[in-house]
Amino acid sequence: MTGDGAPESEGAAPPGHGPIIITLDGPAGSGKSSVARTLALRLGVDFLDTGAMYRAAAAIIIDRKIDPRDTPRVVEAVADADLHFDWAADPPIILAWLKPIDDRIRDADVNALVAQVATIAAVREHLVAKQRLIARQHPRLVSEGRDQGSIVFPGADAKFYLDANPEVRAQRRAMQIQSSGRDADERSILADILRRDTVDSTRDDGPLICPDDARRIDTSEMSFGEVVALLERLCREQITALSMNDGG
Ligand code: C5P
Repeated sequence: MTGDGAPESEGAAPPGHGPIIITLDGPAGSGKSSVARTLALRLGVDFLDTGAMYRAAAAIIIDRKIDPRDTPRVVEAVADADLHFDWAADPPIILAWLKPIDDRIRDADVNALVAQVATIAAVREHLVAKQRLIARQHPRLVSEGRDQGSIVFPGADAKFYLDANPEVRAQRRAMQIQSSGRDADERSILADILRRDTVDSTRDDGPLICPDDARRIDTSEMSFGEVVALLERLCREQITALSMNDGG
């Protein structure tokens, strides 16, 4: 996806004031985070980056020098950190022990460990419960991750699965890193993406899958603006149809 020239939003907030859950799942580097964030802004709803929660768990394990195979200690530390978001920030900032850790969670050592941490069933159980609690507190939500439509919010109002071929995903990630003034080696990014895809899609708990009732969108040939505009249109159609079925 190139550029950020998404056409103007098609309208104000979607109909109704009731809960709306929209899920975006997909593999690493599929552009979910930036698309989900912009989509949420367009729809006037909140945005949840669940990858940030798994990344925060990995950062905690590294920084506290906990052996990732020591599940009880891992879960104890992650629970103790009381991971939650500061919703006053845009995008919301993740906090551990009440301190922001958003500038730590994209580091290379966290990238390398996060998929392994995300295979730990007890960690997933803990974070899934938090995600459902967040949805109760922020009932109009675009939530992105790997298992949002399949496990966390199976009854979501609209579900999407964003995909792109791995080379395109690696290229986008490299450009994103370079645009923040850092060096990026596309080959090692591609290797990391492929490794995480394999771990994420083969684990027992909450594997990366495209739910049967999700709309799969291959973004390889699409610009960022095109993806956002398509999702916004589909969400508005879906939400309008649901509100008409509800008689609202
Ligand atoms: O989306 P992001 O690349 O930040 O996610 C980092 C990692 O967190 C993923 O590779 C995956 O292992 C894990 N994750 C997950 N379930 C989610 C979100 C992220 O397992 N809902």
